[in-house]
Amino acid sequence: MAEKEIKQEKEKKPFPLTKWILVGLAAGIVLGVIFHYLVPASPIRDDIFVNGIFYFLGQGFIRLMQMLVVPLVFCSIVCGAASMGDVKTLGVVGVKTLVFYLCTTAVAVSVALGISNLINPGLGVDMASLVASDPSTLGSTSSNTTVVQTIMNIIPTNPVAALANGDMLCVIFFALFVGIIIALLGRHVDVVHRFFEQFNDIMMKMTQLVMYVAPIGVFALLARTFTNIGFDAFLPMIKYMGSVLIALAIQAFVVYMLLLAVFARLNPITFIRKFWSVMVFAFSTATSNATIPLNMETLDQRMGVDRKISSFTIPLGATINMDGTAIMQGCAVVFTAQLFGMQLGIVEYLTVIATATLASIGTAGVPSVGLITLSMVFNSIGLPLEGIALIMGIDRILDMCRTAVNITGDAVCTTIVAKQSHYMNVDVYNDPHAGLDLSEIRESA
Ligand code: ASP
Repeated sequence: MAEKEIKQEKEKKPFPLTKWILVGLAAGIVLGVIFHYLVPASPIRDDIFVNGIFYFLGQGFIRLMQMLVVPLVFCSIVCGAASMGDVKTLGVVGVKTLVFYLCTTAVAVSVALGISNLINPGLGVDMASLVASDPSTLGSTSSNTTVVQTIMNIIPTNPVAALANGDMLCVIFFALFVGIIIALLGRHVDVVHRFFEQFNDIMMKMTQLVMYVAPIGVFALLARTFTNIGFDAFLPMIKYMGSVLIALAIQAFVVYMLLLAVFARLNPITFIRKFWSVMVFAFSTATSNATIPLNMETLDQRMGVDRKISSFTIPLGATINMDGTAIMQGCAVVFTAQLFGMQLGIVEYLTVIATATLASIGTAGVPSVGLITLSMVFNSIGLPLEGIALIMGIDRILDMCRTAVNITGDAVCTTIVAKQSHYMNVDVYNDPHAGLDLSEIRESA
């Protein structure tokens, strides 16, 4: 069954959309560079193209994405929390898994913030001129508030107003609450549970459709940026990409491996060797959801993890545990703040760690959703959404990389919890040939 699903996934066309986004990216850069260096400033260039057509198409796309944020995050968190009803049945194992998931995500954002502050991807370029609003007011939503107030503000006094204002921390708090109550009431509120699940499906479909216009949006955003600042826009983009990739590598190959060695006393190299193919699969599909069958199969056959554990923790992880996505969001925050000359203080950093960890719960395991929940992290500290313009063009490639980390995080936590709760056959884990068929064993010899 699982094998069939994997085969079907592999047979599906591998993301023609990626190709189109890259075409949009390249076309936007080329046109922007031509406009910047070869076409002298004129009303046709500036008013009709740059601040007319490019602005309309780029902003239109950003608004479409913003439109999705509140309903998408709300439904996804309600459904995620409601499905945690199983935590009750799994008791200690369930709670341990949840704690691991949340802690690893918080660590992931912190790694991202640290690396980005070392690389400083957005320094040296002034993007503030591209924003319509007054840059001096950016970030003012939180810079004057204290840590206690920030934490207190998570509790909405009026949840409907929080939804209407897109007050994301309040929305998340309320959604978690609703989901947990649904889980507690169980069959009694079946209809409401199903309503949210179906509404969630609608939002996922809408996201997919909005993503079809991404190539046009990316084209327009990049054409406008490059017309305004020319080649100066290149270096920050590359540095941003570098910081995300370095932080992802640290999370996957240092943090996770240390966790495996310390909390499960297992050889991390064995894990990487056996899990590599699952990472490659996640990389090529950019969706955690599609990787669920292969992830469970590998943990079961090659690592000796009991399916009793993985059948709960892996689907849950693919829904709520997105460390790679949280890393991208941490890097994107520092990048954009630097581009727009905003200073981030301790309150902003703590807010970002909290929001990105919660955004990870609200990010569905399908391509590009991390980019949509990114706007809620930006909103939480008042960062301008225009910062997403540069990020968007290269996001598809980063999406593939972060998905590989997302599912590795699920598998590592599952392995640790299984080992600690004695739901694991360590002999299978240590046997390099476990789960391989004869031809694979011959190949690996
Ligand atoms: N593509 C990611 C996943 O499926 C989610 C995201 O970051 O967009 O895990």
